[in-house]
Amino acid sequence: MSVVGTAHVACPNCGHPQDAKLVQSINARTAPETKAQLLAGDLNVLACVACGARTQLAATVLFVDPDADYTAQVVLGDHIAVEHAISLMVAAGVTGTRRVVPSLNALVEKVKLLDAGLADWAIEMTKVLLLATLEEQDLDRVMLFDRVDREAQRIHWVRFDGPGAPVPVASPLAPYERLVGRAGVQPPRSEARIDRAWAVGAVQAMIANVN
Ligand SMILES: [Zn+2]
Repeated sequence: MSVVGTAHVACPNCGHPQDAKLVQSINARTAPETKAQLLAGDLNVLACVACGARTQLAATVLFVDPDADYTAQVVLGDHIAVEHAISLMVAAGVTGTRRVVPSLNALVEKVKLLDAGLADWAIEMTKVLLLATLEEQDLDRVMLFDRVDREAQRIHWVRFDGPGAPVPVASPLAPYERLVGRAGVQPPRSEARIDRAWAVGAVQAMIANVN
């Protein structure tokens, strides 16, 4: 089942007011078609009835995969909103892996990682290690997981180097696997925010422990 609501919005392109369908909750087991929409980037997109412009609508979306014991929620707002969302998840008795993410794009990446059987925390740390090797060492650069090729032992990413289309890049799978196998690096189960900020701190702590 999916929870679907309606929002009255004005098209950002032409200003035409209209009702838009907003999916607020996705259950991967019972609504696989909604999950497919999410992965295709078609979820909560306003297709304007007047001018045809497509706009991604900002919405709090809850994703639940009961088979993977996994819950992730898009939380819009500051750290207070994030803390509140986490406490609500805990109060609701959500067990297993809990994640909060700031955008639908970030949720798509989490679901892709879940489907690929990869640990998001080790992927986020891998990104930091890869970005640190760039000449510019830009640890804020957006880089998203695309897919894993286990046969070729490569991870494929898209990196946003500036305006324009993102750059496809690939890296070996081995550094990721070393992180997963490393003792004392995996975050506690209670950690719901596995993002770039978390990963930068985790990489720094790992390097400090080695030295
Ligand atoms: Zn319009």
